[in-house]
Amino acid sequence: MSFIHLENVSKKFNPSNYSAVNSVNLEVNQGEIITLLGPSGCGKTTTLRMIAGFEQPTSGRLRIDSKEVFGEHVNIPPEKRGIGMVFQDYALFPHLTIEKNVAFGLNRWKLLDKRKRVKEVLELVGLSEFSKRYPSELSGGQQQRVALARALAPKPHLVLMDEPFSNLDAGLRERMRHDVTSILRKSGTTAIIVTHDQKDAFAVSDQVVVMKDGIIQQIASPKEMYRCPANCFVAQFVGKTNLLEGKVCADMAHVQTRIGMVSLSSKSSELIENVRLSIRPEGCLIGDNGHYSGHVQKVTYSGEYQELEVILGHDHSTSETMLVYAPVEQDVHVGAK
Ligand code: ADP
Ligand code: MG
Repeated sequence: MSFIHLENVSKKFNPSNYSAVNSVNLEVNQGEIITLLGPSGCGKTTTLRMIAGFEQPTSGRLRIDSKEVFGEHVNIPPEKRGIGMVFQDYALFPHLTIEKNVAFGLNRWKLLDKRKRVKEVLELVGLSEFSKRYPSELSGGQQQRVALARALAPKPHLVLMDEPFSNLDAGLRERMRHDVTSILRKSGTTAIIVTHDQKDAFAVSDQVVVMKDGIIQQIASPKEMYRCPANCFVAQFVGKTNLLEGKVCADMAHVQTRIGMVSLSSKSSELIENVRLSIRPEGCLIGDNGHYSGHVQKVTYSGEYQELEVILGHDHSTSETMLVYAPVEQDVHVGAK
């Protein structure tokens, strides 16, 4: 049985209005790190707040560690759900030292146990020597680790983090993705992380849950999601792609598109009249003896690769613009055929 289970969980803020979260079904195994990924307003925070108990679902059931925390006649308050929460702005107490911040949720623990636990989690997040400092004396990344230490201190079943990386600049952000996951892995804590950033989601999670308009679009590992997106929205949200309209051929191994036949990496299971193919820019190779010809309309140099806009086809009726990545050492220029 899964560790966390959401069953048809919905939320309407206004009874006559749309569902901010619409019949969400989600299972998370113990020790797993999952992310809720999607554009602003798609219902990520609301889902997280319902799991935490800060927001009450309009309908559905919620189970944590095989115990029902929300259902028809059950509504366990947040403090009794065994959840640690890390807020976007960290919400540290500025007038308390780091060790007192971390000890905050342990007020019912015996003094000796409390001291031992604070020491233990500060070691886990690598901040032992900062225990007597105040939050304002720490960097953003360190403050975030304090917030995580405070959430982990009472040994929660589950840690929830809402946009944990959004206040950090690019370099620190990458470092914190690594630090946060390694701390969570070391402590074996199950975690649900909310983000609108595909790179955050792919870097930290076992499973990614993509949401749109309150509805789950796909649940998959980052690799699977990138390679086999469930629909066009997911394909475009988790990376750049070319979407081509076409028709599955009788051999089920090709799709006829406006620019010609495209062979599929695995056979289609159905004969479909109207399909859309997602072709990643790095999946296109350019060279002299290719299947399709075109000319380069735009070159953007990124350092790691060159992003080309290529117009395929010979006349306007068949032309199609494709995004293609070329190695930096390849000689390409605007107008090249
Ligand atoms: P996300 O975190 O994905 O950006 P939210 O869960 O915050 O999205 O919001 C989902 C939808 O619910 C949005 O349309 C938002 O305006 C609405 N919403 C969120 N909180 C409230 C609230 N307290 N009252 C009314 N509507 C809300
Ligand atoms: Mg949000």
